[in-house]
Amino acid sequence: MIEREGWRVERARRVTERLQAALPEHERFETLVIHADQANAFTGPGRTIFITHRLLDQLPDEAAAAFVIAHELAHHHLGHVPGRFARTWPMFAPPPVSHERERHADLHAIELCMGAGYAPERCLIALQILDALFLACGDLEASLGAPHDPEGDIARRGYFPSRDRIAHVEAHVAAYRSGARIVNLLATERAAVDRRRMTNAVAAIGSIAATAVLLLFRRR
Ligand SMILES: [Zn+2]
Repeated sequence: MIEREGWRVERARRVTERLQAALPEHERFETLVIHADQANAFTGPGRTIFITHRLLDQLPDEAAAAFVIAHELAHHHLGHVPGRFARTWPMFAPPPVSHERERHADLHAIELCMGAGYAPERCLIALQILDALFLACGDLEASLGAPHDPEGDIARRGYFPSRDRIAHVEAHVAAYRSGARIVNLLATERAAVDRRRMTNAVAAIGSIAATAVLLLFRRR
């Protein structure tokens, strides 16, 4: 059930507009408030972001709501969702795993929030509330990580532990202020991967050529 009026609808609309003020009309998304008991936000192909009324109730102000909506926008901007920003991955280069995509979305989200003039420490309250919810329901590993199998646990959940997510975003706030942007960082990483693949291909061709030369010598 979609909510059509009230403070939550107003807040979602205001935040969504503010986050996208610099974008042309055809690149903008809208946010719908769903009446649902679970605190959640999500998106999918198309131009809509969904946030539940329960989640909006738990976020204390516009900045915290902005981080959640910006995270969903980020999945579109970074090409994680089929649609106008979808990215085609080069052959043999696997797309980033889920927890890396989520980390990238968090970092792009804080960029969008700061770009829209929200105070980053207020935005981070969204992740601090998530962390508190994990602790309140006794899921210590979702907050702090699993000491016996940290990497396996992250891969299974598809997210870094919430304390790590907070630390990643905090570190990126400083980086953003000195000019770092996640899309540029990702482009640099991809270029490095491409260079490595090219070097390996050249080495492989070189060794095939060397083998061919050896075979020629043997024939004599
Ligand atoms: Zn996400």
